[in-house]
Amino acid sequence: MSSNIGQNYPYSSETEAERAAAVEAATAANEGLAEAINGATTPLDSQDRWWTWRCRKRGCGGIVHAAGYARDNRAVYVVCDRCGSTSLR
Ligand SMILES: [Zn+2]
Repeated sequence: MSSNIGQNYPYSSETEAERAAAVEAATAANEGLAEAINGATTPLDSQDRWWTWRCRKRGCGGIVHAAGYARDNRAVYVVCDRCGSTSLR
């Protein structure tokens, strides 16, 4: 499963409000995504800023946002705001 843990090159950062809005938009646009996040993560702690990353899916061009902490390890569970794909960072 380590193959889906990405390289740690952040694209940018965002405020908590921006992060929350992006994840909310992604879950609204992708059916089942909210359930997937709830099942796979524990809630994030409160931080002022969060890293974002570029989606690695070919041709997507979306930005990947922190959605929670992965239950199974210490990685951050992230979601793409365009294609809705999830991965660990
Ligand atoms: Zn994407």
